[in-house]
Amino acid sequence: MENILVLTHTDGSALTKASLEAVAAGQELAARLSAPLSIGVVGAPEALNAVAATGAKFFAVSGEAFTQARYSTDAAALEALCRATQATIVLAPGSSRFARVAAGVAARLGGFVDTHITALSGDSAVEASRWFYRQRVEAVLARASRPWILVLDAGSRTPYAGAPGTAAVAAVAVDAPATRTTVTGLRAPEQGQQTIRPDAKLLFVAGAGWTKKQPDGQIHTDQAAETILGFLRATSASLGSSKSLVDQGGEGNSVLPFLTHMNQIGQTGATPRHPKGLSTCCHGEEPHVVGWRFIGERRAISLDANCGWTRGKADVVYIADAFQVVAKLNALLEAGK
Ligand SMILES: Cc1cc2nc3c(=O)[nH]c(=O)nc-3n(C[C@H](O)[C@H](O)[C@H](O)COP(=O)(O)OP(=O)(O)OC[C@H]3O[C@@H](n4cnc5c(N)ncnc54)[C@H](O)[C@@H]3O)c2cc1C
Repeated sequence: MENILVLTHTDGSALTKASLEAVAAGQELAARLSAPLSIGVVGAPEALNAVAATGAKFFAVSGEAFTQARYSTDAAALEALCRATQATIVLAPGSSRFARVAAGVAARLGGFVDTHITALSGDSAVEASRWFYRQRVEAVLARASRPWILVLDAGSRTPYAGAPGTAAVAAVAVDAPATRTTVTGLRAPEQGQQTIRPDAKLLFVAGAGWTKKQPDGQIHTDQAAETILGFLRATSASLGSSKSLVDQGGEGNSVLPFLTHMNQIGQTGATPRHPKGLSTCCHGEEPHVVGWRFIGERRAISLDANCGWTRGKADVVYIADAFQVVAKLNALLEAGK
């Protein structure tokens, strides 16, 4: 019989959203396989109170050394949790913190790891789905190797949301390994400057059209920047871009200063997950649209009635000037505040 362990970590004092998604996945899998479920946390044991109602067994590795994300301490903590629970199937959230140690932990345990898992299925055996070839081919994997660590893509399921309680947490002792890295503090972009927001309900994509000559024969980059930032401020949407737009910086052309290659969506960019997406001034070519695989509802504003979006890639296409449409939207959002 399988023995399931969900690994979690905190952001401050609470479990992260991706950790709660992994808990939901573990609970569902354990019920389907009639297998025992354990939940382990690296960090504050009391964070597990949020998932007390799962009826799982609870384990924690805590202490000063384990409060910070760091390869050596995180890998030691996860290895200890896996050994303490004798888990055969280990589910881990695909956070940057756990994604970087999962393979190392699997190697230490003599197990196997698969990443970017988007779904778990199978009635008697565990089957894990992931996408290959830039989200074009979906594969279902099964393995005989145990322990099998499955790193779950964040955003691919609804987070666990049971009533909090009091979890009886068993402490797992780990000798903190020698560290070379000392965390002296955190530096993050100021709130509002960060335009990539994985948890946003809406993805707003800017295409190269924003920096192209407009019907008056002029380019209006400043106006484009102001309009896009105004929309982001009003909606808290996440900002994506086409490759053409972010590439322009290297060609010495007029660019939007807040865009980097991190914003790029597509075959050579990101494949984010948002319930809705709005594409503006973008042609909707396949290498770009493949990055929209997991966007629930797609809308586009383009001047070109023959663009890729109109050829079946968007649910709704507005053949219109995005400068005018987004300015009008901003005005309506402002008025509706
Ligand atoms: C190997 C490979 C990998 C690639 N990977 C990626 C990738 O990961 N991501 C990606 O995005 N691309 C990728 N590309 C490039 C991709 O094929 C396209 O070239 C790119 O997406 C085009 O960007 P765009 O639509 O913003 O620009 P353009 O093709 O220049 O389109 C601009 C659009 O804006 C419209 N427009 C202009 N003004 C307005 C206005 N006022 N209102 C409304 N619409 C307006 C125009 O009508 C036009 O349709 C890749 C290409 C290759 C070969």
